Amino acid sequence: MSTVKYVLAEQDMPTSWYNIAADLPTPLAPPLHPGTGLPLGLADLAPIFPIALIMQEVSTNRTIDIPEEVQQIYRQWRPSPLYRARRLEAALDTPAKIYYKNEGVSPAGSHKPNTAVAQAYYNKQEGVKRLVTETGAGQWGSSLAFAGALFGLEVKVYMVKVSYHQKPYRRALMEVYGASVVASPSTETVCGRAILAAHPDSTGSLGIAISEAVEMAAQREDTKYALGSVLNHVMLHQTVIGQEAMAQMEMAGDYPDVIVACTGGGSNFAGIAFPFIGAKLRGERNVRVLAVEPAACPSLTKGKFAYDFGDTAHLAPITKMHTLGSSFMPSGIHAGGLRYHGMGPMVSHLLDLGKIEATAIQQLETFAAGLQFARTEGILPAPESNHAVAGAIREALRCKEEGKSETILFNLSGHGHFDMQAYMDYQAGVLKDFEYSDEEVAMALAGLPSVG
Ligand SMILES: *Cc1c(COP(=O)(O)O)cnc(C)c1O
Repeated sequence: MSTVKYVLAEQDMPTSWYNIAADLPTPLAPPLHPGTGLPLGLADLAPIFPIALIMQEVSTNRTIDIPEEVQQIYRQWRPSPLYRARRLEAALDTPAKIYYKNEGVSPAGSHKPNTAVAQAYYNKQEGVKRLVTETGAGQWGSSLAFAGALFGLEVKVYMVKVSYHQKPYRRALMEVYGASVVASPSTETVCGRAILAAHPDSTGSLGIAISEAVEMAAQREDTKYALGSVLNHVMLHQTVIGQEAMAQMEMAGDYPDVIVACTGGGSNFAGIAFPFIGAKLRGERNVRVLAVEPAACPSLTKGKFAYDFGDTAHLAPITKMHTLGSSFMPSGIHAGGLRYHGMGPMVSHLLDLGKIEATAIQQLETFAAGLQFARTEGILPAPESNHAVAGAIREALRCKEEGKSETILFNLSGHGHFDMQAYMDYQAGVLKDFEYSDEEVAMALAGLPSVG
């Protein structure tokens, strides 16, 4: 069976990002100051982000130009290929057509360089010398380390301690790009020391690592903070994926009935889906959109849509989002990039408006899907991306049951070459499913701020 691949010419790469804020039927709830609970002013964000990114964060312009220098770097791997998964379709014996966009072709191996390069560019423009960030599995840390190397910025990464020890090769990749990596919680920050004093054995969480990075960034004039998901400007930068996919689906003479993507903070989901959701919101073309999250970290399906803290030490802004509570401690599932307690405000808002759907899938089903994908399409997905693969397979099997030849498009957010231990554990039968119980959800939600 021959491979069916849709490749755009370099000159057909998008030259602007798409901002869904322009098409939302009701505006997003404003972010609040973590100390006062009052609406956040631009001046509150200036110590941690460059002005250009703060302006993008609050912009309601439908399109924002991609700077030429950023486009030049994107061209190293963009436009990324779109494939028709013909062998997977055959294996599933489904009448559905399955397409996938492969974001694993970037130098760091995921969609994250789409925003890392843009963020490094704007920081460099404003004279910043040093970027501080957190990373879970290491995908974001290695993407920012890559971007920092290109722009001559120093990069410091607080890596969730459990991943620091579990994923030495991701850590090594960050160091190859020139970044320095510290296990979080660390003794370098006030909040890290406080957590270690209370819980000496803490294995860390994204919420804690964010607190450490924000604390460091706020201290030095030449240092800013960078976040790899959740924020509006991150969703914006990722929309190159969906814009390209739209042109590629047109090449294929097709249009998706359903779009599937995995969700951690929501950025690869936003990337592939927002341009299509924009067309839907403007009444041009309908589409179903499905977010797939891990059953062990079910912020969209079990969390509350409420104002919550973005980090454990309450240094980051309070935003209205689907959340499991900032004290949420995720179980050790291998999809480290999907273990954040909250969800991007834009994605949360769209779910609340009924414009998208969400479902949670257990770890073992996602790895079974990843193996089936690797054995038919040849590409090994990241454990995070396996959630999208599993969601797409469920949709294809539904089509088979209903006898419908729908068109499914999913985002393959990254490759899994640094996640072989997870695949070895799965094949050895030692991986487990984790359910996040309703009692645990209720407990973590008891700590929501009383604002809004
Ligand atoms: C970080 C990551 C995710 C999850 O983050 P989102 O912001 O929800 O996209 C998904 N897939 C891969 C490969 C990642 O690195």
